[in-house]
Amino acid sequence: MSDSISRKEFIRRAGGVLAGTPALSAAGFPSILLPEKKEKLGVALVGLGGYSTGQLAPALQETEHCELRGIVTGSPSKIPKWQQKYDIPDGNVYNYENMQTIANNDEIDVVYIVLPPGLHAVYAMVGARAGKHVWCEKPMAMNPQQCQNMIDAAKENGVQLTVGYRMQHEPNTRTIIRYGEEEVYGAVKSVDTGAGYNGRHSLGSWRRVAAMGGGALYDMGVYPINAARYATGMEPVAVRGRQWSEREIYDQVDEFTEFELKFPGGVIAKGETAFGKSTNYLNVKCADGSYSLQPFQSYHGVRGKTSDGKTLQPCRCNQQALQMDNDALAIKNDQPPIAPGEEGLRDIEIVKAIMESSRKGREWIKI
Ligand code: NAD
Repeated sequence: MSDSISRKEFIRRAGGVLAGTPALSAAGFPSILLPEKKEKLGVALVGLGGYSTGQLAPALQETEHCELRGIVTGSPSKIPKWQQKYDIPDGNVYNYENMQTIANNDEIDVVYIVLPPGLHAVYAMVGARAGKHVWCEKPMAMNPQQCQNMIDAAKENGVQLTVGYRMQHEPNTRTIIRYGEEEVYGAVKSVDTGAGYNGRHSLGSWRRVAAMGGGALYDMGVYPINAARYATGMEPVAVRGRQWSEREIYDQVDEFTEFELKFPGGVIAKGETAFGKSTNYLNVKCADGSYSLQPFQSYHGVRGKTSDGKTLQPCRCNQQALQMDNDALAIKNDQPPIAPGEEGLRDIEIVKAIMESSRKGREWIKI
């Protein structure tokens, strides 16, 4: 590779080639001569908790267009195990104090923020200002202003910002999004959806802490909110909801939330989420039929059926690998990602409106 073009520029130019036609890169090199390491985008996981450890790092062993190359962690004790398991060199290990120096590391193209939601905005912006593409877990941030700041930081630094909405990459989910768009069963009339689990978070868990983005609505409620939007293909005009807790351990945050979204044309979506009740369904009624996914947001086994007897069989795919490959391709090809920051912002606007409605005795809040 010529010294006169940066690695990022090289990957950008080569992007179209790597995605589809393997003959020649835009720069004129036979792609077969490219060192393999350069073909995949380098991802640094920021936060090595349950989701990074259990899902994302393993999925990054299956991805075609990106790979795990770095870590950012505040827990020195985790470093040796991660370095050994994933062959991560010393130079690609960061902590939260020196994360901005990742700017000098050409091995890392993307930082993936997998921290408690209260920390998403600050570290997404550190990543963007370091010139790295940013993938951010859901819920995107605590409030619309933080989301907007993240979007602005990405734009100003010429990097992509995407939200880890893995469902939008899942094949059966994409099928029902298409049903809605193409009105295969007529216009969508109503949506019923829920995502929650019956669990118990231990003392110290951020999911019990309001300032960190705890509570069922932030944690799980963004799934039914996002689903109501992708199933209808519309944005709600008004929202109402009710939040409450039954167990004392959730005295700071909602253990349960129910909500309704009113869409143009009178379409209503009813949603629920909980830390104290297990639900996992997406039912869509249309003018000429209906379809549903159940489970609709599990890591595996998302399946569906339609009113005319079709079954949508679960795919044998790894959702997180699909998501990260799609997001990596969007970067390589300089195309809009499937779930850009604006998607996360819309959902957080709705989250805040549901919270306001609950405080106001279930009043409809216009958005
Ligand atoms: P977790 O509690 O298991 O991990 C959080 C990590 O953040 C830990 O490694 C912790 O050490 C670190 N951390 C750094 N500073 C912290 C602080 N001040 N307080 C608490 N922790 C701090 O959480 P998780 O389940 O891995 O969730 C992380 C993110 O991933 C959240 O945004 C969550 O919503 C999201 N998530 C997404 C999915 C999905 O399917 N897309 C699934 C699980 C979690």
